[in-house]
Amino acid sequence: MPGDRVHNITGVALLFVCVYYLLNAGIDSEMILVFSASYLFSLLWLSPDLDVDRGSGSLRRWGPLGFLWYPYKELFSHRGMSHNILLGPLTRLVYFGFMVWVLFSAVNVGIKLPAMQKDVVLAFVAGVWVPDVLHCMLDRAVTEVRRD
Ligand SMILES: [Zn+2]
Repeated sequence: MPGDRVHNITGVALLFVCVYYLLNAGIDSEMILVFSASYLFSLLWLSPDLDVDRGSGSLRRWGPLGFLWYPYKELFSHRGMSHNILLGPLTRLVYFGFMVWVLFSAVNVGIKLPAMQKDVVLAFVAGVWVPDVLHCMLDRAVTEVRRD
């Protein structure tokens, strides 16, 4: 599989392409900002490689909070469901949301989600999803090339 550095460089390159396309398509700059922020968060902190036993760049970026992802790593075998382009990001978002809820509950702070517009949710979901698709495509492409 490609290393963390390859995933990050190609991910950032694709982000520039996406932003260029979105700007030329006349998409609202706030939506582009939401997309870009969630894209970078997904690329750097919610990578499908959070399932790697020996750790990954994403896991290291969590720093002292990296332990929160150990159950995820145990639940999902490497390149299993975590590398499915639909279920992978969904499992990480649900898992991350659950962990945030547990942490906030532990310190007795209630979470109240703000009402969001449909466009903001769509930009956020697209921002989380696109780098995941790129990651999985790169993993598969490198596997195929090495197989030949
Ligand atoms: Zn991977």
